[in-house]
Amino acid sequence: MNRRVFIKTMGAGAVGFLLGGCDFKAPLSSVTSDSTLAVDKNGPTFSGKIEYRTMPRISEKISTIGLGASALQESSASQIEKMIVYSSEQGINLIDTVMSQFGPAEAIGRALKGRRDKIMTQLHIGVTYPSQTYTRTRDLKQVQQGFEQQLKGFGTDYSDIGLIHYVDEPEDFEKVISAGILDYAQKLKRDGTIRYLGFSSHSADIAHRFLATGVIDIFMFSLNPAYDFVPVEGKLKLSEERRRLYQEAEKRGAAITVMKAYGGGRLLSDASSPFGRAMSVPQCIQYALDRPGVISCLPGVRNMDDLTAVLAYYNSTKEERDYSFIASAQHQDMNGVCIYCNHCQPCPYGIDIGAVNKYLDLAKSGDELAKDHYLKLRRTARDCSYCGECVPRCPFHVDIRNRMREANQFFGR
Ligand code: SF4
Ligand code: SF4
Repeated sequence: MNRRVFIKTMGAGAVGFLLGGCDFKAPLSSVTSDSTLAVDKNGPTFSGKIEYRTMPRISEKISTIGLGASALQESSASQIEKMIVYSSEQGINLIDTVMSQFGPAEAIGRALKGRRDKIMTQLHIGVTYPSQTYTRTRDLKQVQQGFEQQLKGFGTDYSDIGLIHYVDEPEDFEKVISAGILDYAQKLKRDGTIRYLGFSSHSADIAHRFLATGVIDIFMFSLNPAYDFVPVEGKLKLSEERRRLYQEAEKRGAAITVMKAYGGGRLLSDASSPFGRAMSVPQCIQYALDRPGVISCLPGVRNMDDLTAVLAYYNSTKEERDYSFIASAQHQDMNGVCIYCNHCQPCPYGIDIGAVNKYLDLAKSGDELAKDHYLKLRRTARDCSYCGECVPRCPFHVDIRNRMREANQFFGR
C-alpha cells in the first residue's frame, strides 16, 4: 500500500510511521483542547469541547465518547443517575446499556426521562436478565421478551440502536439467521422500535459476515492495539483481517462503536500491557478513534472518577494522545503475554485459544460479562488435553497449557 492510500485509509490528519514494516499512524487529533476539567469536593467540573461524528447510515451526530454501562452497578442508583445526567449535560449523547446486573436499569431510565431526545440508547437484542442477571440467549421467544424487558426497564418504547448481541462464532452466526433473530431485528427497525440495526462482536470474521448482509447500520466491536496487531516475522503488524474490516465498514457507511478500548484494563498497566509499557486513557481512546469507520468509543464507567478520567480525553493535548511509542515495542516485550492472535491454531480439540485467553484476562481484570461469554464458548479450557500441539506455534511463547489450567480453574470449566 502506498503512503497516500494509507493515509486515506487510516484517516486524515495523521503522522505516519512504520511499525514492524507496516504503515501505522500516530495521531495528531483535530479535537480542540481548550477546556479544563478537575475534580473538587463538589464533584467534577468540566468545560470541554465534545466532538461529534456522523456516518452515512447514521443521520445524527454522535459524541466521539459514549458511556458503557457494563460496570455501573458498582455505583449507587443516585450516583448512576447523576453520572448520566452530568455526562449528557456536557454533550455526551450515547449510552450502551448491556450490563451484568439489571439493577441500574431504573436509574438509567430516570436519567433518560426528560432527555430522551438528547441521549441515544444502544440496546442489545439477544440479552435477557432472568433474576436480574445478564444472560445471552438465542431462543427467539426469550430474545423478544428480553428486548421488551430492557425497553420497559429503561422506561422507553424505542431504542436508537439495536444490536444483535455478541456473535463471535460461525455456528452462532448461522443460528442468529436460522432462529429468526436477524429477521426479528429487521422487523424492529421497520416498525420504528429501533432506528439503526447492528450487532456486537469480538470477531473480525463474524463482522465481515454481518456486513455482507447489507443491512448493518452500526456495530460494536472490541478494538484496541493489543487486538489489532499480530506478530509477523518477529515484528508487529496490523492484522490484515481487521484492517479490511475497518475499511469495509467505512466503505459501507456502517459505523463502529468501540468496546474494550483499554483491553479490559490490561493496556493501562505497565505490568500487563503487551507493549511493555502502559498506555494512557487518552492514548487508548485516540487509537480507537483513529480507525476508519469508528464513530464513538464507549469505555465502561463504574463511577464519577472513571467518568472524569474518560472526559479528560477532551482536555488532553496532542502529545498526551500520541500513542506512537508502541511502534518501538519489541518482540521480547510481548513474551509470554497473549495478544489473542490465534497463530497457535488449530487446536485438535477445537478450542479457540485466543478467546479463552482473552476472556480469562478480561474476567481477571474485573469484566463482569467475560465469564458468561467464556461459558458460551463451544469448547472451553476443560476440553484441553494438554497435548502441547499449539505451544510451538505461539510466537510470544505463551505457556498455553498453563493458561488452560488457569482458565479451567478460574471459570470452573
Ligand atoms: S497463545 Fe500465542 S499464538 Fe495463541 S492467541 Fe495467544 S499470543 Fe496468539
Ligand atoms: S494443549 Fe490444549 S489448547 Fe493446545 S492444542 Fe492441545 S488441546 Fe488444544
